[in-house]
Amino acid sequence: MLAKSAIEEKTLNIALAGNPNVGKTAIFNALTGSHQRVGNWPGVTVEKKEGFLLHSGTKLAIIDLPGIYGLNAYSMDERVSRDYLAHQRPDLTLSIVDSTNLERNLYLSLQLMEMGQNVLLTLNMQDELDAKGITIDAAGLSSFLGIPVVMVSALKRFGIDELKDRILEKCAGNGFPEGLSFEDSRIEKALGAIEKLLSENTEIEEMNYRWLAIKLLEKDPEYQLLLDNARPYLKAAVNEIIADIDRIFGDSAVAIAQARYSIIEEIMGRFVKQARKSDDLTDRVDRILTNKWLGIPIFFFFMWLTFQLTFVVGNFFLEMIDEGFGLLADTVTQGLSGNLPDLFVSFLADGVIGGVGGVMVFLPNIFFLFLAIGVLEASGYMSRAAFVMDRLMNAIGLHGKSFIPMILGFGCTVPAVMATRTLESRKDRLITMLVSPFMSCSARLPIYLTFTAVFFSKNQGTIIFSIYIIGIAVAILMSRLFKSTILKGESSPFVMELPPYRVPNPRELLRYSGQKAMVFLKRAGTIIFLVIILVWALAALPAGVEYASHESYAGMIGSALTPLIRPMGFDQWETGVALLMGGLAKEVVVGSFATLLGDGRLEAGLSEFFTPLSAYAFMIFTLLYMPCVAVFGTIWREAGAKWAFFTMAYTTGLAFVVSTAIFQIGRFFTG
Ligand code: GDP
Ligand code: MG
Repeated sequence: MLAKSAIEEKTLNIALAGNPNVGKTAIFNALTGSHQRVGNWPGVTVEKKEGFLLHSGTKLAIIDLPGIYGLNAYSMDERVSRDYLAHQRPDLTLSIVDSTNLERNLYLSLQLMEMGQNVLLTLNMQDELDAKGITIDAAGLSSFLGIPVVMVSALKRFGIDELKDRILEKCAGNGFPEGLSFEDSRIEKALGAIEKLLSENTEIEEMNYRWLAIKLLEKDPEYQLLLDNARPYLKAAVNEIIADIDRIFGDSAVAIAQARYSIIEEIMGRFVKQARKSDDLTDRVDRILTNKWLGIPIFFFFMWLTFQLTFVVGNFFLEMIDEGFGLLADTVTQGLSGNLPDLFVSFLADGVIGGVGGVMVFLPNIFFLFLAIGVLEASGYMSRAAFVMDRLMNAIGLHGKSFIPMILGFGCTVPAVMATRTLESRKDRLITMLVSPFMSCSARLPIYLTFTAVFFSKNQGTIIFSIYIIGIAVAILMSRLFKSTILKGESSPFVMELPPYRVPNPRELLRYSGQKAMVFLKRAGTIIFLVIILVWALAALPAGVEYASHESYAGMIGSALTPLIRPMGFDQWETGVALLMGGLAKEVVVGSFATLLGDGRLEAGLSEFFTPLSAYAFMIFTLLYMPCVAVFGTIWREAGAKWAFFTMAYTTGLAFVVSTAIFQIGRFFTG
């Protein structure tokens, strides 16, 4: 036994810590070869992710932590990262920084060292240094900080092997960094005094008294608590020291921040050379894209372009796939009729091919939608969009940062809800969560594509664009309403950071949109498949009824719902069933119609059921009514059952009111 455990390899835990957008996830991918999402805004890595790699016979577990600016636990992300670092004590922490932005990035690196982490400084984005005329003396920096410094480019896969070697080296050595002392002797003296008090007080169990002392000077509430539970004399003594520093510097927390910046200043002066002013192409482009007047129209223009791309290119492929499925259904029906029970043939043709196939044909559109979003995101434009919307968001009392989760919602509402974790204020977080379902997710796209193809074939793109805009408008209005009623509160201040523009990497883009397309396919093969079978079964049972007739279970359920949806102009029981099933997954709305109407009769059927007016009301209803069960579950987990149920109820109520208004007012005008 003993011998075995002695040879058993220990897994080394390597944490990746850094500001948002410094390339943590890219390094994670380069190290582990796994395909995490690489994004260009805060909140993409909302939970820590783990991947493995074997290097020179040693197993390494790499943990990708959320992007953070400090270790103060203001936001959920900072708390996740800090708790992990403090409690799990990784064997090594890679402090990852953007080499072109050292001055700002090193602030976190210093804190990691203060905390007593075993730190390896990773200077990423090497490939951009030359263009910006920056040179960094890595060896000098390394000896100044007393920790290894490695230059890499995750994008160009440069320096990754060296990084792996240095990781092993650093883990094998037992020298944890000393931590730097601050230049100002008054601060050092105060820290020393607090440290001494703490170490003499055995009730406080924290090995790293210096870190604790710094946190107390920073007035970190969580550490303050620790003091509250200590003996009164200790608390009084510590508070007296803090009060002294307050008197000298105005505020001890500011004094600590200044002390860190003066270390950074020294580093910048000694080890970093800036040959010429960095090229300000980014600045010039930003002057236009984030212009006070042009910013918002440009943002909407890009969105419009996105949807045009989604149709024009997507529909080209859609038609090919659609024909394929049509052919398949015909072949199945003709080939099997008479040989197999009719019920089974109908199951294959109407249920599986008609229903699931009816959803799958949208695969190209989904792919191109995500490709367009991917380009906007990877180029750095999305952060500008959030910045541009900041003023609008401020006007409704929310933060521009809230717009980021909302943009994510165009893909899928689940990550949008998760991304609200980057918001500091709980109330802002809740509001953003409550309105994120209005940002039309990709699963609703098939509904719009189908309905506009039948009723608005001439200006499909524009009509769909209008639906997305209505979604954004409703989200903004509802935020305003929540902010002034049930979720009153102050917004927390935040400075938005604009990353430099980058030419998106085609390989990454394809991987990203390919992954999204796969997720869609998987859903089609699992939950959508199951729900479609349910719809088919409800339409075929009880035994002996005519398929999809009034007497079938589906017919009965649908008929019971019809009075509820008639005010919106929906008279057919099939519509009720489709909407009910859409509550499970939005993709199923079209699939349900296809299944109930039978293969090949979808478009003809819809044009009987709806007028252009009620079709528009229907699309708006599906935009606004309850999000799918996955979102319900996510809100439940993030905010509790109460808010999850609330979301389902108020969105559906609102959808009913808005769609009814559209239909009734429209009918009034059109006679
Ligand atoms: P994270 O927020 O720290 O996880 O950062 P990501 O890994 O999502 O990367 C942010 C952006 O920086 C992405 O657009 C990456 O493609 C880009 N990026 C990452 N590493 C490099 C690099 O070494 N050089 C360049 N030029 N870009 C990089
Ligand atoms: Mg990341």
